[in-house]
Amino acid sequence: VAESSDCIFCKIIQGDIPAEKIYEGDQVLAFLDVGPLSDCHTLVIPKFHCARLDQCPAEFLAAIAKSLPMIASAVVETVDADGYNVLSNTGRAAGQLVGHLHFHVIPRHTGDGLFKSWPANKYKEGEIKQFAKKIRQNIQS
Ligand code: AMP
Ligand code: ZN
Repeated sequence: VAESSDCIFCKIIQGDIPAEKIYEGDQVLAFLDVGPLSDCHTLVIPKFHCARLDQCPAEFLAAIAKSLPMIASAVVETVDADGYNVLSNTGRAAGQLVGHLHFHVIPRHTGDGLFKSWPANKYKEGEIKQFAKKIRQNIQS
């Protein structure tokens, strides 16, 4: 499994620095975030060093997809959450501080006030079609 010697999450995978691990498989590790947005805020990571979703081998992503629902259910049950957010900050512009791909599982409670702002915009006439067309042209499957 690829690792990066100066990556804090690779060090957690290796057991070189401590973490409250809650689930571990061959390709996936989940542990509690030390700076939680709510109790039991969890991070789920591939046991493969890559910074971004689009750099992660499919087998590791598949393992994450398999384990996320189970991890989220256990977290929700533990704090009796009303819901949760799953999100991955990708790139500095999106708030990524740790350069090892990770998925936040953030338990939510009604009225908790987290992510209060969701600054939705509107497209100008015809714009949505143009953007969709361009993206379809850029899809490389
Ligand atoms: P992001 O901004 O998406 O890169 O989030 C990085 C997250 O990692 C933050 O929520 C931090 O609180 C968390 N974090 C950083 N170092 C550790 C650590 N050693 N153990 C657990 N969580 C960490
Ligand atoms: Zn790493």
